[in-house]
Amino acid sequence: MISSLHRPTRALIDLGAICDNIETVKANIPEGKKAFAVVKANAYGHGAKKVAQAVHHLVDGFCVSNVDEALELREAGIEETILILGVIMPNEVALARDYDITLTVASQEWLDLANEQDISLKGVNVHLKVDSGMGRIGVRSLEEAESLMANLKKAGANVEGIFTHFATADEADNTKFNEQLAFFTNIVNNLSEKPALVHASNSATSIWHSETIFNIVRLGIVMYGLNPSGTDIALPYPIKPALSLESALVHVKTIPAGATVGYGATYTAQKEEYIATVPIGYADGWTRDLQGFSVLVNGQFCEIVGRVSMDQITIRLPEKFPIGTKVTLIGQEGDKAISATDLAQKCGTINYEVLCLLSDRIPRFYSK
Ligand SMILES: *Cc1c(COP(=O)(O)O)cnc(C)c1O
Repeated sequence: MISSLHRPTRALIDLGAICDNIETVKANIPEGKKAFAVVKANAYGHGAKKVAQAVHHLVDGFCVSNVDEALELREAGIEETILILGVIMPNEVALARDYDITLTVASQEWLDLANEQDISLKGVNVHLKVDSGMGRIGVRSLEEAESLMANLKKAGANVEGIFTHFATADEADNTKFNEQLAFFTNIVNNLSEKPALVHASNSATSIWHSETIFNIVRLGIVMYGLNPSGTDIALPYPIKPALSLESALVHVKTIPAGATVGYGATYTAQKEEYIATVPIGYADGWTRDLQGFSVLVNGQFCEIVGRVSMDQITIRLPEKFPIGTKVTLIGQEGDKAISATDLAQKCGTINYEVLCLLSDRIPRFYSK
């Protein structure tokens, strides 16, 4: 998909903020831990290539979700470890090996399939995934972990790591977190041979459970400057959102009392009003449930009135502003700010989803 460059709508990515956020987390965890930057889904919409190139000196490796995301980083010159967090199909193993990509292996059934298909794992770096309670992928007992590890070694794989993922590290109630931690710790401590790399910490775990880090943190949302819990738990230290989204007014008019705006005529002016149009819509990931949310114009909140269209939104201005006036959709203007977390609250979702939905139509511009 081609970014729409000749349009005032754009995302600005502060690479310096991403670096600062990594350093902040690292300063607040025990010394000597490794950090992997999670850059799946195009670095949560920030641009995987640019982010990886900007942070690679601060981290020991990268996490992605599939082979293509891994290849994109290799093609961008990234030489650090790249771990695919998801399960790839066995027929993609050779490609991954050619690019020195580290794989997650989550079941004996997967290894059996690879063996049936005569797919060699010789020399492939793998991390064994333990399902300690997330319920997605991974082995679910010490016995399974032990035998899968032995069979992987027999197949010639280099079992470099073992890891798990927490389902509730971003919640105030630690009951489930502690159960998962105990389950994983028990497996790690009782394996006949412990892999060199043991990891369990996503952003939330790195922030609120830093005493439980094994030897790597996998930093996702916190790198991008957002609170993994949304607004549920306060952050112990400040981080800075790296992405802002801006556009400009392309049309400004007055409408009389009683006139309606947008598809479905869902908004009716109560009096004579200034209505402006901004070139962003649901095709950009600015979803329809943002009707009624606000954007910043000239340092003031202006409500989105009427339906969000595919390519345009309409906002109510307090006074007339000229065409070309800047609109901040995510970011700061003076003492006011709109965050991806604010959008998420309006839409009943999480800041992660807001960022990931910002489509390729929006060009990303970078600052250091
Ligand atoms: C996405 C992901 C992460 C990063 O999660 P954040 O909450 O963004 O830090 C870490 N580990 C796994 C297995 C993941 O899938």
